Amino acid sequence: MSISPRFLQELRDRLTLSDVIGKRIKLTRAGREYKGCCPFHREKTPSFYVNDEKQFFHCFGCGAHGDALGFVTRHDNLSFIEGVEALAAQAGMQVPKSTPQDIEHAQKEKGLHALCEDAGRWFENQLHDPKNREVLSYVTGRGVGHDIIDAFRLGYA
Ligand code: ZN
Repeated sequence: MSISPRFLQELRDRLTLSDVIGKRIKLTRAGREYKGCCPFHREKTPSFYVNDEKQFFHCFGCGAHGDALGFVTRHDNLSFIEGVEALAAQAGMQVPKSTPQDIEHAQKEKGLHALCEDAGRWFENQLHDPKNREVLSYVTGRGVGHDIIDAFRLGYA
């Protein structure tokens, strides 16, 4: 199953990163950021920072860095999809799933693209066929050069 980048961005935008992380570790406000003890290495003085505006966390102790999804997958030991689902649940969003109809539609579309490609190539070949030499010389005679013919994939019927 693939998740669209647009959905992931919407998920990030809907959630406040400090809420997501604050549910799992204790954070205190530090200016425009939040700080806490890093869950990814042992420490007594906080060097773990959360920036809601930039939507990422950073640890100056161990270099851990990432967004909400990166945090939950690592902290809760989840797969990518499980992490997306956990965040979507918190944001009150539905993870879009591909239905059998979506898959069938995509396959049909792929078939039509291939068909158009075949047809297009046939017309292109017609234009370059020696038996249609007159047509090609008419076209080039009108100032349509081979670069344009190739670029627009001109053909003849
Ligand atoms: Zn750390």
